[in-house]
Amino acid sequence: MSDNSNKFKQVISHAKEYGFIFQSSEIYDGLSAVYDYGPNGVELKNNIKRFWWDSMVRMNHDIVGLDSSILMHPKTWKASGHVDAFNDPLIDNRDSKYRYRADVLIEDYVAKIESKINKQVDKAKSKFGDSFDEKLFRETNPRIVENQQKIDYALSTMKKCLDDDDLVSFKNLIIELDIKDPISGSKNWTDIKQFNLMFSTSIGANSESSSEIYLRPETAQGIFVNFLNVQKSSRKKIPFGIAQIGKAFRNEIIARQFIFRMREFEQMEMQFFVKPGTQKEWYEKWKEKRMQWHKLMGFNEKDYRFHDHDKLAHYADAACDIEFKFPFGFKELEGIHSRTDFDLSQHEKFSGKKLRYFDPESKETYVPYVVETSIGLDRMFLSVLTASLQEENLQNDTKRLVLKIPAFLAPFQAAVLPLVKKDGLEEKSNELYENLRPFLNVTKDEKDAIGRRYRRQDAIGTPVCITIDHDTLMDNSVTFRLRDSMEQYRVDLNSVRDELLKLTNFANFL
Ligand code: ATP
Repeated sequence: MSDNSNKFKQVISHAKEYGFIFQSSEIYDGLSAVYDYGPNGVELKNNIKRFWWDSMVRMNHDIVGLDSSILMHPKTWKASGHVDAFNDPLIDNRDSKYRYRADVLIEDYVAKIESKINKQVDKAKSKFGDSFDEKLFRETNPRIVENQQKIDYALSTMKKCLDDDDLVSFKNLIIELDIKDPISGSKNWTDIKQFNLMFSTSIGANSESSSEIYLRPETAQGIFVNFLNVQKSSRKKIPFGIAQIGKAFRNEIIARQFIFRMREFEQMEMQFFVKPGTQKEWYEKWKEKRMQWHKLMGFNEKDYRFHDHDKLAHYADAACDIEFKFPFGFKELEGIHSRTDFDLSQHEKFSGKKLRYFDPESKETYVPYVVETSIGLDRMFLSVLTASLQEENLQNDTKRLVLKIPAFLAPFQAAVLPLVKKDGLEEKSNELYENLRPFLNVTKDEKDAIGRRYRRQDAIGTPVCITIDHDTLMDNSVTFRLRDSMEQYRVDLNSVRDELLKLTNFANFL
């Protein structure tokens, strides 16, 4: 088994053991691609939400918030194109009985070839050192050129098949590229079918009067239909943005990557409304801003990259993903899309109501263009968990599992630990715990030897352990033990709160 697949397994079992994530309805053998967040998971998830919200809404004067409902008028989804076009190409393998997204099979084929190319480039780089010209090497090395041609052929043929809605040629491409079922190795494929990803349900009390509605597959449409309500009530002038965090539902075809692809998930989306003609400039600005936000996490910067879309969605004039290096490869973490005036114009058409902005300076009235940033909260959670979880060898031949989460995201900012439960230390410790609680999310633990308690806090990512010992009773100071360096130092009891805020408050990381 590869290191990466071991790492992924370790992340999944750690998430369960330490109360971050459980399979939904586990006692009934689970519900596929649906997950629950446990006590530590919900804290981390809420902190990610808060970090996104604060950096988006609190720190940007030109962005306001919204919390729109999950259920919307069914015409919304006709207008947005989801009823007719929110489909994935589905293919089954007759032998393994597994179901795949045909486009993902092609993407995986491409990723394999890319990885071969990258290996060859890395080898040449280390051989030739400083004199190595990577661009020239990629353009002239016969094996790389041949492999690159294979990639270009696969991607351009797939694009044509999807553009033409030609599912027969799409299947022929899979056969031609000799793509096998990654699990069974079989090439016994069915035809490709389009599959709509929206969940439907009905609204209304009796069967005659009830009608079909959908669980929203994205939060964005709640923002578009409220564009004028928000603009007028908040008296915002264009350019301005509306941000929202909320649940979305998609009946995903493949759902085998833990919380990477779920059927019920959360999105953090921001729609930025701009004057037509300025969208390109804003798109570039938001691309940069979002990448900077990810880098605030302090993880390896090489684990993030942009991927510009070759195939644009029907509503977009530019689009890219911020990809993160998950244990199963670089995959989309966030999408940034220049959505033109498509959505607002469609809602105008289907509702018969004007969704226009009057520019008080130029005296023009127009349908604004939109630049969207859309990130999956659960995918963000998974990226934080995979980048943070580390196994370290310690001096005395022992190991520790430590979650090196950014301090401002950790489920608890600190743990208060009495060295022993007697001699008044527990009481002193409880006093500090109660004093800190209104200001910081802190936990306490008095069971087991202090070393084991440190390990438990390391495993859930608590950045600071505060130990109350016999000296505390004498000199009114405590030991701070830092998660990452395991460094220990004394801090005066009266300074504990300020010290903790300095080490963990998100404002210090901006
Ligand atoms: P993918 O290509 O992976 O299916 P997408 O391009 O359909 O994603 P968008 O519609 O752009 O995704 O949604 C925006 C963000 O929502 C994605 O970047 C991702 O982080 C998140 N997201 C989308 N689908 C899921 C899902 N099924 N489970 C978890 N997060 C998701």
